[in-house]
Amino acid sequence: MAKLLLGCIADDFTGATDLANNLVRAGMRVVQAIGVPEGPLDADVDAVVVALKSRTVAPAEAIAQSLDALRWLQAQGARQVYFKYCSTFDSTPQGNIGPVTEALMDALACDFTIATPAFPDNKRTVFKGYLFAGDVLLNESGMQNHPLTPMTDANLVRVLQAQCKRKVGLIDHTVVARGDAAITARIEQLKAAGVSIAIVDAVSNDDLLRMGPALAKMPLLTAGSGVAIGLPANFGLAPSSQASALPPAGGHKAIVSGSCSLATNRQVLDFIQRGGAALAIDPLRIAAGVDVAAEALAWAAPSLDKGPVLVYSTAEAGAVKSVQGKLGVDEAGAMVERTIAAIARGLVDRGVRQLVVAGGETSGACVQALGIAQMQIGPQIDPGVPWCHARAEAAQGAGLHIALKSGNFGSDDFFTKAFAVL
Ligand code: ADP
Repeated sequence: MAKLLLGCIADDFTGATDLANNLVRAGMRVVQAIGVPEGPLDADVDAVVVALKSRTVAPAEAIAQSLDALRWLQAQGARQVYFKYCSTFDSTPQGNIGPVTEALMDALACDFTIATPAFPDNKRTVFKGYLFAGDVLLNESGMQNHPLTPMTDANLVRVLQAQCKRKVGLIDHTVVARGDAAITARIEQLKAAGVSIAIVDAVSNDDLLRMGPALAKMPLLTAGSGVAIGLPANFGLAPSSQASALPPAGGHKAIVSGSCSLATNRQVLDFIQRGGAALAIDPLRIAAGVDVAAEALAWAAPSLDKGPVLVYSTAEAGAVKSVQGKLGVDEAGAMVERTIAAIARGLVDRGVRQLVVAGGETSGACVQALGIAQMQIGPQIDPGVPWCHARAEAAQGAGLHIALKSGNFGSDDFFTKAFAVL
């Protein structure tokens, strides 16, 4: 098996998919692993993204998880390591971006790395070390009120320095604009001044592409998913349809949706208006002890031959609030997630091999219920949502095509369009 070029560690699940998708579009073949795999990599790919859930756990736990992922990536021969965090630099005052970065630097004997969440395609830009979300500074973007990781300072040098023992500096836009040689010279200057980690400005994809060559020799990079677009070229790779090639799709088609986001509500309605076979499930009947999953599977079975079926708990805000009022927010969520995951598993048991899942938390529950450990990333359906191919325990180890769509992603006709992409 060819040696792994890029080994990535992502601090959450959907962030991992976001990075994997960018790498594929830039020409790499990529597998996303859900947690640190137990065995060796079972695919011939250029990059692996290990998805952790380490963003808001205690720093010591985040470090332990990240080092575990690092050891596995090193065992697969990874030539460069990429620590991926959110493009809004989500972190608590203690970390975990700083502590994990320093632990990885120690483990890799790395004396200098960069840190930049810039992702211009998603309107996250860094200028003079300040992070903008859209047209406003991070701390005016709503992120100052985030329930878990409130971001009250947009100056990333200050934010990261507060989390690090090493000295944090800046490679600003006047340097980045002049390209590889200027960036490399600035790095040497910073190192001489005792700086080990540099925030890097980037306001456009051109900046990220200019940055790429200067990063070729760093053992460790830390960034959002934006920096990824400049890396495949360092390994002689260019964008190609080969990177997103998946095995041919077959079997029955289905959609399960536990997302109640506005976009998903429109997508469910669009699918029904086009005459698609759809079944709504009622959380109150689950709570009353009815085996809603068995009912849904009995409903779906005779229709599977005719085209995609949709099973959904998707509802508008008023209906969700009313259910939450009766059952409690967490209890309603967990109950619906369990039911949809059981339905997904049952559908795959019955021969579904092309499955769309709508909802971030719902996706996590389904991937777990299906017994999926690694997914190869394929062609993009809509920005941020690629088709993936995975071996699933639920399919007796056979391959399954799966697309995981979080909340507000995707056009109104997503549930129809998705199957046309395969
Ligand atoms: P999104 O990506 O749109 O945020 P998630 O799957 O992450 O979707 O979150 C949706 C949450 O709402 C899940 O916990 C799900 O179980 C729950 N849920 C889904 N349908 C309903 C419903 N009809 N009433 C109450 N809660 C629901």
